[in-house]
Amino acid sequence: MTGHERLWAELGLDVPLHNRLLESLGADFQAKVESRKNRPRGMAYFDRVIHAAHGDRVAELVKGRAEGRKIVGTFCIYVPEEICLALDLVPLPLCGGTDFSVPYAENIFPRDICPLVKSTLGLAFSKTCPYAPIKSLAVGETTCDAKKKTWEILSERVPFQVMEVPNKKNARTGALWLAEVREFLARMEEVAERTVSADRLKSAIRLMNRKRAALQEFARLRAAERPPISGLDALVVYQGMLNDEPLRFTENLERLNRELESRIAGKVSPFPAGVRRLMVSGCPAVMGNWKIHSIIESCGGAVVADETCTGSRYFENLVDESAGDVDGMVAALAERYLKVDCSCFTPNDERLRSVESMVDRHGIDGVVQYVLQFCHTYNIEAIRVEKTLKAKGIPQIKIETDYSREDSGQITTRIEAFLEKLGSA
Ligand code: SF4
Ligand code: SF4
Repeated sequence: MTGHERLWAELGLDVPLHNRLLESLGADFQAKVESRKNRPRGMAYFDRVIHAAHGDRVAELVKGRAEGRKIVGTFCIYVPEEICLALDLVPLPLCGGTDFSVPYAENIFPRDICPLVKSTLGLAFSKTCPYAPIKSLAVGETTCDAKKKTWEILSERVPFQVMEVPNKKNARTGALWLAEVREFLARMEEVAERTVSADRLKSAIRLMNRKRAALQEFARLRAAERPPISGLDALVVYQGMLNDEPLRFTENLERLNRELESRIAGKVSPFPAGVRRLMVSGCPAVMGNWKIHSIIESCGGAVVADETCTGSRYFENLVDESAGDVDGMVAALAERYLKVDCSCFTPNDERLRSVESMVDRHGIDGVVQYVLQFCHTYNIEAIRVEKTLKAKGIPQIKIETDYSREDSGQITTRIEAFLEKLGSA
């Protein structure tokens, strides 16, 4: 047994099945991402983040837990990470991006729910998620039906907190959300067995603002006339942002940003001049899921922007740092997180404005609306996104898919036709 295998066995994982999962993910990552040419040198760090997710990162978290640092599992970008960090808790997204685990969820759950939910549950049910046994508590939210009904079942098995994300944005729901964030703080203080101090909360807000600012800068660099990095590599960075230790991630991203600046100056790009510039918009593509970006870039397009939760939705808007006391900082956090423009909101005009502005900033030629199967809110909102894009004269295509490979050929044909329609520069 290797050191990691011993660790997984101690955590109660099904080691042979887990090895098969890692083989499948490793082969997919190698074929779709690592084998690409002309990648920035700084991507070596972010590749390691992906490889470490089930190994070294788990060992690091287990060591931290032994030193008293508890882990809080999350499933959505509405959970204010700053509060966890200020209490020395580790917020860790548990969303699954692999097809491998889906059948294990389908034994228990209906088949016709989104693959992200099924993949997440399947990892836990099949004993192949190393984070499930080490978390002290999980935090869900009321964003979509699949998730919120799932929480009822999970909360019977593990300590659970559900944050009520409202469906409208106004003064009344703003007050409701602030109360939810306050309740979240109180629950996290219980888990951490300490109360938050203003100094610790301020430092956590500054750290996350620095991380989000680095991600905004990264997005800005991707908008260069000759994109210095592929959309697949950018996706790897975005997937890492959800798993890695925040300060280490930020320092490495700041370094990568400097490398991208010099690549832009030297006109170094993984794409030929005149490549068609695409934006992926809609559902998240979490770790393990490189499908849509890989298809687009294999067909000769360049993904230069991601209007998703594994993209701009995570890093848009910083937290106002002016408050000096805990109450003021909690209010500033609630304000920032309520700006996230998930399709669970109605109406969701902020998202349409964001799509318009990203199309302009990134010089987008066409938009791929990425909808995970059975994600009704993004699927229906796609109609308004299409209308918004049409008014700007930007072509779009909607791809509704799951995590399987079965429809890859069909999607490839549709993306090829879409790129042909966009023509050459
Ligand atoms: S799509 Fe909505 S529910 Fe899903 S992670 Fe994003 S914000 Fe959360
Ligand atoms: S992709 Fe859609 S259906 Fe799936 S968890 Fe996110 S919001 Fe829910």
